[in-house]
Amino acid sequence: MQNTIDMSEKSKAGCCCSGDECHGSSEPEKRLGWDEYFMSVAQLISRRATCTRGHIGAVIVRDHSILSTGYNGAPSGLPHCNDSNCRIYRSTHPDGTVEENCVNTIHAEINAIAQAAKHGVSIQDSDIYITASPCIHCLKVLINVGIKTIYYLKPYKIEHIAELIRLSGIKLVQVPMVETPPG
Ligand SMILES: [Zn+2]
Ligand SMILES: [Zn+2]
Repeated sequence: MQNTIDMSEKSKAGCCCSGDECHGSSEPEKRLGWDEYFMSVAQLISRRATCTRGHIGAVIVRDHSILSTGYNGAPSGLPHCNDSNCRIYRSTHPDGTVEENCVNTIHAEINAIAQAAKHGVSIQDSDIYITASPCIHCLKVLINVGIKTIYYLKPYKIEHIAELIRLSGIKLVQVPMVETPPG
């Protein structure tokens, strides 16, 4: 009968699967927003980081395209940090708080800028996604290369950069990430 509606087919409307592989769900999978998309990439990149102090990833983006990426680690060809050679230095911020950094490594944001410079990619008027808010030293460089907005996942000593953020006009935005179920 030509007018009979096959309900099993109708139930697959909106499903990304087809044929025998269809799981039968009529709920379309939630699509990642741009911020979650680029921050997810930054999180993945952070897994390449080598300093035992922390793993940070950065992605420089303009017009929804990735221009450059970076993670924190030793300069190319030099020994990576490990438990025995990660060398920590301490610096005192004007507010009296002590900050610890590793002398061996380049921060993720600077490595992303270095990668762009190496390949001749202009990053003026771009945005950066970082898995942690930048330290004050990286922030100064981000300002000078023309980054418009810094998107970050976890706050890191925001109080140290608050004044520079305000004076420079660069935007600092935290991206709330939603845990996505596996599969
Ligand atoms: Zn280190
Ligand atoms: Zn930094």
